[in-house]
Amino acid sequence: MSLQKIQSVRGMNDILPDEAEFWELLEETLRRWLKMYGYRPLRLPIVEPTPLFKRAIGEATDIVEKEMYSFIDSLNGEALTLRPEGTAGCARAVIQHNLAAQHAQRLYYFGPMFRHERPQKGRYRQFHQVGVEAFGFPGPDVDAEQILMGARLWNDLGLPDISLQLNTLGQAAERSRHRAELIAYFEDHRLHLDDDAQRRLHSNPLRILDSKNPTMQALIDGAPRLFDHLGEQSLAHFSSVQQVLRDAGVPFTLNPRLVRGLDYYNLTVFEWVSDRLGAQGTVCAGGRYDGLVQQLGGKPTVACGFAIGVERLAALLRDADGEVKALPVDVYLVHQGEAASRLAARVAENLRDHGLDVLFHCGGGNFKSQMKKADASGAPVAVIIGDDEAAVGEATFKPLRNDLGTDDGTIDSQRRVKVDQLAEEITQHLFRQDDD
Ligand code: ATP
Ligand code: MG
Repeated sequence: MSLQKIQSVRGMNDILPDEAEFWELLEETLRRWLKMYGYRPLRLPIVEPTPLFKRAIGEATDIVEKEMYSFIDSLNGEALTLRPEGTAGCARAVIQHNLAAQHAQRLYYFGPMFRHERPQKGRYRQFHQVGVEAFGFPGPDVDAEQILMGARLWNDLGLPDISLQLNTLGQAAERSRHRAELIAYFEDHRLHLDDDAQRRLHSNPLRILDSKNPTMQALIDGAPRLFDHLGEQSLAHFSSVQQVLRDAGVPFTLNPRLVRGLDYYNLTVFEWVSDRLGAQGTVCAGGRYDGLVQQLGGKPTVACGFAIGVERLAALLRDADGEVKALPVDVYLVHQGEAASRLAARVAENLRDHGLDVLFHCGGGNFKSQMKKADASGAPVAVIIGDDEAAVGEATFKPLRNDLGTDDGTIDSQRRVKVDQLAEEITQHLFRQDDD
């Protein structure tokens, strides 16, 4: 009888080495980019109390209504949820540790998020975000800076066709006037509303504007606009953001239907969208959320942030670059015989002391089969130690990729080297081949 194989949970993917190696490179780029703007890292729990999300995101949202992985801690009865996004937890941490009391803060975090959605390309149940949040900056300058950050990142990554959509949600009072008009309008057209819209009509009518249902688009296009209810301050904030973008030469499209899936936004909202990702085109989304900290019981603290969907960004990069090559190690260490293997283990550590990446052959086998593995590893150098070499404290240095040639036209050939000179020989060889 064979046991049934256990598979990963639907929509929760293993990130295998080729992809994970690529993610690590991407994360390095992202960290450098965040540092360039003075953002500092934060590591947050993956599980938070369920009420945090209900209060932060809003009861009448897709996430809270149907996408959260919530459970009761069987040991103490506490209601817990796997985080569906990072902003709520970040704001909670800022409040809990009084982070923004003295200075405004620029913060970021990386990590998995969980939403019970229908898995499809670019949409998973466990996915990853880079979250970028600034607390305590009231002006439009920080909104604009965060948008410019995005523009720089796409540019640095060689992704020219990600476009910017921009809108303002005004302030709560302005929204509530608009809301009343919106409800009246949709009530007049009640027969054309789909089930979701009917349900949201009184709880969250703004979200109807976000509907992806094609049969509702004409109705939505004719709906009253929030823009007509904005006061002087909101308008000034919005035009200042636009001014910075124009000065920096970052093109954008004003999209009055951009309302974001979460309730906590006000003033500036934006999305970076690619048309190369099919229906899941938004790579990055964010905006201002001045009320959230207070809504969670903290002292009034304005804030602004955005999140990048890592799977979608990685898909775009793959699409642009084709196959991403894994970086090989520097050295494959081949060894046979008892004395040789003991020396080889020491040599491997010694080479690592000199900063070289070493694949130490494990699992025995004759020289021929080990050399095949060395070739397949992609390493530019094999080091071979047999009992002959071990007896005199030497190793054989063998360049594996001489076809590449060297800068000065010389070709390194296989030779015996004292083990204590090995690191130097290899480093010089790699250096000579470096520019190929
Ligand atoms: P969508 O409209 O695509 O559902 P959203 O408004 O729910 O997105 P946000 O909560 O703003 O998304 O999350 C920010 C970013 O995280 C998105 O722009 C997207 O790149 C990514 N993202 C969101 N949900 C998923 C998911 N289920 N799978 C993969 N990436 C996701
Ligand atoms: Mg969503």
